[in-house]
Amino acid sequence: MAEPKRISRIRKPEQMSLEAWQVALRRQFAQEQKFRVKNIGAEPVFSEFHVTNPQTGKTYRVAVRGERLGDNYCSCPDFATNTLGTCKHVEFTLAKLRRQRGAKAAGALVHSLWLTGQVRTRFLEKEAAIITETQQRNEKSQGTM
Ligand SMILES: [Zn+2]
Repeated sequence: MAEPKRISRIRKPEQMSLEAWQVALRRQFAQEQKFRVKNIGAEPVFSEFHVTNPQTGKTYRVAVRGERLGDNYCSCPDFATNTLGTCKHVEFTLAKLRRQRGAKAAGALVHSLWLTGQVRTRFLEKEAAIITETQQRNEKSQGTM
């Protein structure tokens, strides 16, 4: 699988807003971490989690309420001060939950994407055929004039 381009921590990509860049950095960082996540609530997804960094031994409390920025909470100092509504612990937990749910949903999603692709390809082929036909007809009619 192709590696996505790494986002620079030092220089903001030109097409990105400052906020989007800071969120992307935390997502990128979360992908490279091996945090331990323990569900300490009652629900499988919208629950509370203890997220531990095995390297530092630090544990933070993450509350998952939704997929959007600002839906969730983390007790770490970065979350408290960055005003982004997310942090590497929140992003790590969301990614893990998506993978768990994804395992079940992946089959259906891949199939629906494949179908969408098929329909689109057929539509484009048909459109291309009509354009070619029209061009040929135009050329012919121009030739006879
Ligand atoms: Zn955090």
